[in-house]
Amino acid sequence: ISAAEQAVLDEIKEKEIDFLRLQFTDILGTVKNVSVPARQAEKAFREGIYFDGSSIEGFVRIQESDMRLVPDPDTFAILPWRDREDGRSARMICDVYDTSSGEPFEGDPRYVLRRALERAEELGYTVNAAPEPEFFLFEEDEDGRATTETNDAGGYFDLAPKDLASDVRRDIIYGLEEMGFEVEASHHEVAQGQHEINFTYDDALATADNVATFRTVVRAIAAEHDYHATFMPKPIPKINGSGMHTHISLFTEDGENAFHDEDDEFDLSGTARSFLAGVLEHAPAITAVANPTVNSYKRLVPGYEAPVYVAWSDRNRSSLIRKPAARIPAASRIELRSPDPSCNPYLAIAVMIHAGLDGIENDLECPDPVRENIYEFDERKREEYGIDTLPSNLGDAVDALEDDEVVYDALGDHVAPKFVEAKRQEFEEYLVDVSQWELDRYLETF
Ligand code: GLN
Ligand code: MG
Ligand code: MG
Ligand code: MG
Repeated sequence: ISAAEQAVLDEIKEKEIDFLRLQFTDILGTVKNVSVPARQAEKAFREGIYFDGSSIEGFVRIQESDMRLVPDPDTFAILPWRDREDGRSARMICDVYDTSSGEPFEGDPRYVLRRALERAEELGYTVNAAPEPEFFLFEEDEDGRATTETNDAGGYFDLAPKDLASDVRRDIIYGLEEMGFEVEASHHEVAQGQHEINFTYDDALATADNVATFRTVVRAIAAEHDYHATFMPKPIPKINGSGMHTHISLFTEDGENAFHDEDDEFDLSGTARSFLAGVLEHAPAITAVANPTVNSYKRLVPGYEAPVYVAWSDRNRSSLIRKPAARIPAASRIELRSPDPSCNPYLAIAVMIHAGLDGIENDLECPDPVRENIYEFDERKREEYGIDTLPSNLGDAVDALEDDEVVYDALGDHVAPKFVEAKRQEFEEYLVDVSQWELDRYLETF
């Protein structure tokens, strides 16, 4: 038992925790729970908790169904919305092990990210990341089902009285803080009913854990207020969708920001430029992972502050990558604007890292920034500037993923084919469906 593990055992006793939720995520990023009485914590640390993985869609093949969860003591947190008389619950995020080999399970997204971090480490880097998840708060109907109705008419940074949902957002922030989040900023977003909460950057693994937790906390606390929080990328057509811009930077072993160069016009080091070039190079394949739903592609259209074109900029928000201004050297970073909050954060951050490191290893050349509004370019001008377009639907994105060895390999032998298969199926189901739009448009016309 390590010191960190002992500290968790002490806290469980002191705070009279009754239940432990052992969490991990499946390939699609859905948080899974195995609940055990808190007195099993020590056993969980020592030998892990066994569970049958075959009940989890796409996780394992039947013959390798026994899995073992080993909790990470750094992720211990008491669940704020479970802090009740009927028993207090806490959670820990787990690494998944294969029981037959005793090795980390290759289908565990957390392990996919760990592998990306190992590769960074081999090159002498640690990785920091910070997400900006956006979401909508919708009203529920009498049966408690989600609608797409909002009760506020707030716009970007508007305050009360227009921002009626700010009470809910405040409670969400309290809940996040109780769970150890350091919330940096929160505001009403551009669209009606839309919100954004930013939390402090952390190492990439902690950040991915945080995103998984964040979605659970936001939904649970919104539900206590009879709201439905959704991370669906584009719930309402013709207004902004919800993104999850992801900021990323590499640090050296002695704690220096490897992306910072004060002599550079954009404050970007050669390392940062190669990393950026790698992300641009692999952008189409990254899209399949960072924008993994049919609906994701309804967000990636011109005119709604979401990226469509493969370019970077130090100022405009129509480009795929932005270089935000940094007040201190440690803050130099790049912001990838394509990810949306329906993605599996472990996989999305892992493929970004591999793509960027590929740029560094191959010394890829970074193109010039594009400082104009690319939405306004026509095809000829885009060609002249050498600007590619992101895949326009899930099917094309999955094709790009299959064609991109770096990104495909980043997911690993287990996750990559499973992910491709699941997403192909999702896209094909969508293709044969008949939508409300088609009925409205054709039913009475023909
Ligand atoms: N909602 C926009 C998107 O889809 C982002 C808006 C913003 O944060 N400026 O990415
Ligand atoms: Mg923001
Ligand atoms: Mg935003
Ligand atoms: Mg942003």
